[in-house]
Amino acid sequence: MKIINIQTEIKYIPLKTPFVTALRRVENIEFVRVIITCKNGLVGVGEAPATKAITGEGIEEILHSIASIITILHNQIPTNALELLHEKKDNTDAICLIGHSAKASLDMALLSLIAQSENIPLFKYFGANEMIDLQTDVTISLNSKDVMVEDAKKASQNGMDILKVKLGSDINHAIEVIQAIAKALPTAKILVDANQAWDVTGCLHFIDAMQGYLIELIEQPVMASDLEGLKTITEYSNIPILADEAVFNLEDAKKVIETKSANMINIKLMKCGGVLKAIEILEYCKSQNIQCMLGSMLEGPISINIALHLAIAYKDVIKYIDLDSPLLYKEESQELDFNFYGKNITYK
Ligand SMILES: [Mg+2]
Repeated sequence: MKIINIQTEIKYIPLKTPFVTALRRVENIEFVRVIITCKNGLVGVGEAPATKAITGEGIEEILHSIASIITILHNQIPTNALELLHEKKDNTDAICLIGHSAKASLDMALLSLIAQSENIPLFKYFGANEMIDLQTDVTISLNSKDVMVEDAKKASQNGMDILKVKLGSDINHAIEVIQAIAKALPTAKILVDANQAWDVTGCLHFIDAMQGYLIELIEQPVMASDLEGLKTITEYSNIPILADEAVFNLEDAKKVIETKSANMINIKLMKCGGVLKAIEILEYCKSQNIQCMLGSMLEGPISINIALHLAIAYKDVIKYIDLDSPLLYKEESQELDFNFYGKNITYK
């Protein structure tokens, strides 16, 4: 089953309402879809969203990355192509120069081809014996306090009880928002995501103000490069600290865990370069008894599908699933392997 064609398409999915974090504001999900066809007729699909603010890759960079290695993957069988994609070569090699998201899109298309050739669904290919229902958090975008509390209540009425609340640099606003949501929804699990917007002093003040409230975790309070600051916060905090932007790959994860700079790691396929790389981090975290979040950017249905299949296979180490993009689509996607109704995600 040699690869005979690799094609790319640019796709857009309108959102119900704009998605706002400390880093960006998004009205449409914009992504590149890569379609790999083999001589035997099998087709594997992968996706990479444009998230320039986070991975440095916009649509142009992703297209350019994929185009630069098409000739290397062409005529290979998928298992060999996957090996070539993840091979460590010197830094001038074309494959080493491609972006993480572009690499992830190719990795997922190739894995899909391999699982299809073995005639098994992806979750089985990743090692799970059986399908289970999953639960994702839902994002509450950064806004005025009243709007955020209303959004949290609406999510709760729809059965969503794990809320990922996006906060900005204004610590007083952050404190007021979280206290108000916690009071309004005492049984909700609240995950706080500052997307690097705080400094250490502000974060410690926030933690003090959260005493008496039940908060699940605080995600990436300070700049990704400020591991020392993150460690100071982790040592001080009785709320678990989750590293997101500070961890792209296995080396980053090891550094954060070995230095005890955070309690948990947020793994995203688009940061680490695909499923095979995510599995390396998951296996490492499992060996260290560290629990993870499996997160995503604002993504299309195919890359969310693959992340969900992976979440099933690693349910013992993935404590939180942050794969709520389909809930934010204006129209329901027909390309999902899963139903997103209320709080449970079920396999179709
Ligand atoms: Mg985050």
